[in-house]
Amino acid sequence: KDQTSNSWEQRDMHNVFHGFTDLDTLNRNGPVVLTHGEGIHVFDVHGKSYMDANSGLWNNVAGFNHRGIIEALCDQARRFPGYHAFFGRIADTTVALSEKLIEISPFPSGKVYYTNSGSEANDTVVKMLWMLHRRNGQPQRRKIISRVNAYHGVTVATASMTGKAYNAEFGLPLPGFLHADCPHFWRFGRAGETEIEFSQRLARNLEELIIKEGPDTIAGMFAEPVQGAGGVIPPSEGYFEAIRPILRKYGIPLIADEVITGFGRTGAMWGSDKYNVQPDAIVASKCITAGYFPMGAVLLGPDLCAALTAVSEKAEEFPHGFTAGGNPLGSAVALKALEVLETEGLLENVNRLSGRFMSGLRQLGEHKYAGEARGVGFMGAVELVADKATKVALDGSYQISERIANKALEKGLICRPLGQAIVLGPPFVMTEVEMDRMFAILADTMTEVF
Ligand code: PLP
Repeated sequence: KDQTSNSWEQRDMHNVFHGFTDLDTLNRNGPVVLTHGEGIHVFDVHGKSYMDANSGLWNNVAGFNHRGIIEALCDQARRFPGYHAFFGRIADTTVALSEKLIEISPFPSGKVYYTNSGSEANDTVVKMLWMLHRRNGQPQRRKIISRVNAYHGVTVATASMTGKAYNAEFGLPLPGFLHADCPHFWRFGRAGETEIEFSQRLARNLEELIIKEGPDTIAGMFAEPVQGAGGVIPPSEGYFEAIRPILRKYGIPLIADEVITGFGRTGAMWGSDKYNVQPDAIVASKCITAGYFPMGAVLLGPDLCAALTAVSEKAEEFPHGFTAGGNPLGSAVALKALEVLETEGLLENVNRLSGRFMSGLRQLGEHKYAGEARGVGFMGAVELVADKATKVALDGSYQISERIANKALEKGLICRPLGQAIVLGPPFVMTEVEMDRMFAILADTMTEVF
């Protein structure tokens, strides 16, 4: 760490209040201050390069200096750089993006609502559901179901939906935010239970929760097709098929939070396609702009859209919106990023290399202190354990995953420690050679740390 008083690191330490950052590590090592990127590498102020095996934060999937996306941003900036989308006014580019999003969505028709982030998009859906039920004569229908280990964001409502213990720091969750089971068979399956039986048990538990709380008090359920920040947890086999009929039975809308899984991360355009989620709405963000502009979106499927349109008309409007939601710069970037995803072979690359990715993960999973190696498409995790058979966590395994990530960083690789797991979410443009290097660095790192 550069300790000179005017170094970038010191200036950061004096002026920046960091979130989601281990302060011990930060105080010891200082921040990594970056200047630019090339392909899937980023460079710090000292000229050191790092392969970013996390695509920024799951979002920089086309590399860090994609000419076409940069040009699209600049062209829009020259023509019409910023406008809000309220009071019946909207930029033409945002209309074009909406058409495109519905075209590639799993819905035959629908509409898009814009935000600046994934948290805001989830929060927006909560308000949509509350308004919908209230206007339909069911004001008591306010409870929101999500799941243990879920991550839905950081606003007060979405942190309440997030099933992570750290939100106790804020006295959350708020009352009325309920957490159903996490569909992680390796961790929560019982001895002798098949994966399908496990999914069915979780579905029965969900129905019991709904009945106990009162079906007519539940506003909706949110689920990530693959839990991301919870440690990359693909659903157990048959999970969505098991819970879907129960939600339908009680008229509870299902919202797919596709902030990570949307736009190709699992190898399909949507995690909902991959896992047969059949959602009523999709929440998207991150890859929508390949990380080049902040943007979130709610894609409303036809039924929810029709119901919301009807109640909004009764209320004269949907009284909710973000000044920069649907910003034309972000819209132009998103249109281009989606074109790049479809026409420059990014989705194909995820599918071509996902087998190599999974076998690299499994090889890491053979390490003495690795429990489960899991993933899909270009998202994966290796969970650390003290004992493979009992799956008991290592003493201080949180610090160990942090130490592995720090050691990898020294070696020029960015990966993410998430609880007891090391998480990888490479950019969709990663090559075979880069992938092999990523796994080689991680293998060396694990050998050195243990
Ligand atoms: N939902 C999921 C599944 C996420 O992974 C995230 C962020 O990582 C969010 C919501 C929140 O998005 P944002 O950080 O853009 O508010």
